[in-house]
Amino acid sequence: MRLRLRFAALSAAVLLGTPLPARAQAARTTAAITPADLRTRLFLIADDSMGGREPGGIGDWKAAEYIASEFKRLGLEPAGDGGSWFQTVPFVRMKPDPATRLIAGTVSVGVGPELLVAGRPVTPRRLAAVPTIYGGAVNDPAGALPADSIAGRAVILTIAPGPNSVRSIGALGAALRDPRYARAALVVVAALDLLGPERVAAINAGRLTTDTALSATAVPAVIITPAAAAALLGRSLEGAAAGTGGRRLDGTVGFVREPVPYPARNVVAILRGSDPVRRHQYVALTAHNDHVGFDHAPVDHDSLRAFDRVVRPMGADSPSRDATAEERPRIRASLDSLRKLRPARADSIRNGADDDGSGTASILEIAERMAGERSRPRRSILFVSHTGEEVGLVGSGWFTDHPTVPRDSIVAEIDQDMVGRGTAQDLPDAGPTYLEVIGARRLSREFGDQLEAANAAQPVPFVFNYAYDAPGHPLQYYCRADHYNYARYSIPAVAFSRGEHLDYHQVTDEPQYIDYDDMARVSRMVHDAALRVADMDHRPALDAPKRDPKEPCRQ
Ligand SMILES: [Zn+2]
Repeated sequence: MRLRLRFAALSAAVLLGTPLPARAQAARTTAAITPADLRTRLFLIADDSMGGREPGGIGDWKAAEYIASEFKRLGLEPAGDGGSWFQTVPFVRMKPDPATRLIAGTVSVGVGPELLVAGRPVTPRRLAAVPTIYGGAVNDPAGALPADSIAGRAVILTIAPGPNSVRSIGALGAALRDPRYARAALVVVAALDLLGPERVAAINAGRLTTDTALSATAVPAVIITPAAAAALLGRSLEGAAAGTGGRRLDGTVGFVREPVPYPARNVVAILRGSDPVRRHQYVALTAHNDHVGFDHAPVDHDSLRAFDRVVRPMGADSPSRDATAEERPRIRASLDSLRKLRPARADSIRNGADDDGSGTASILEIAERMAGERSRPRRSILFVSHTGEEVGLVGSGWFTDHPTVPRDSIVAEIDQDMVGRGTAQDLPDAGPTYLEVIGARRLSREFGDQLEAANAAQPVPFVFNYAYDAPGHPLQYYCRADHYNYARYSIPAVAFSRGEHLDYHQVTDEPQYIDYDDMARVSRMVHDAALRVADMDHRPALDAPKRDPKEPCRQ
């Protein structure tokens, strides 16, 4: 049944009985790039009914449907798998085998608040009367046992307080990779108390990956509470000497691959260029359509916002801590002022309006403007809406590893991620001209020049902030965004962002907090920059020979 909705391809979502937000069915967008159109699109993409668009879930599936329907409505060419609009990214959820359990006599510990399965994904491993041995502290090499005394046993390890007399989970990674444990039957680290309950729940929920490998030989590993470890060893860990033997373990430990309920998809479309030769080359315009989903424990929206404004101004990227005595009255005051405006609202959806609903709305607006323009650029414009950015740049990695157009024909890429904020309320040194620029000149100065020129021609140019692009920058943004998957194949690539803010990765990242006027200016600048590069006589020259795409990223 084809519903003649404005966004025809959304029929599938309606067929599924998950109606679109009312405002989405009402509003019609115009050919121009306008704040009103961006608002229309963003209120749809980031609506609660999209559930925070986790890859593999219905929300991200609907977002991809909407984006494809827009590309179709605008008359672009589908450029996904097999001539469709979509490139499916084969995610699975790699999660602990729910049957995982360790048993010693009457003591029995399963996956949950006392135990999580860690380390490299392994096939489920059966344990039968495996002797346990206390292996000392992972971060005390002096007390470590020789590999032979660990072979074939379940080695129970602790984490000792570090120089700052704090036990840190940081020591864990090294332990799990330590070759001394390679012949153990199981590695058990008694350190679950160092992880918050939501972190334990998140790890046990598994992670989305396209790497479906399950090792049949790697050593299985678990992290358990010190109390559970003592119960399995059959004695307290306090004062235990490394090498102390304990009870015998039965049970099973491992991972399982779970298919995701909905295919996670990149959406790929072409606005075909006019030049008979250059139309087979592409300027890629990208953003990511996924976000981080929803929580199971709602919070009060305004309370969180009042708290974060004072304590966590960079949202999830600010350290998590309690408010100080000095901060509490300020939080109280701002919450009281919000209470005068509206009642409390329970919120559990991480809407991802800015991250990256803003970039998604922007590439759709650029597509609509270009489709409405009389002349076509000489080269083609390749629109790629990536999924899986939040789980490790997976969608862009999959696209650049399996491009649906010849990779060498992609002459440049412009990524937009979080282009909807950047006001003076969001960042101390931000405002109407604030724009973070990553990667613009790293591979091709000529490419950077084109971007600067397009910006300089704007009615109110942005001030390109290259601070986060500095070599060795601690935040390593150059390696942490989708543009990098193009850059690793030596495609001149840039990421534009208007910066972080208190709602970053929070349930409060909602469309009503977006600065649409300035967002429209970013979108228009990117439109012009893409046309400049698409109309160049020659493709942007690389300043250095191509590098091996497998080389690790260095900022
Ligand atoms: Zn993002």
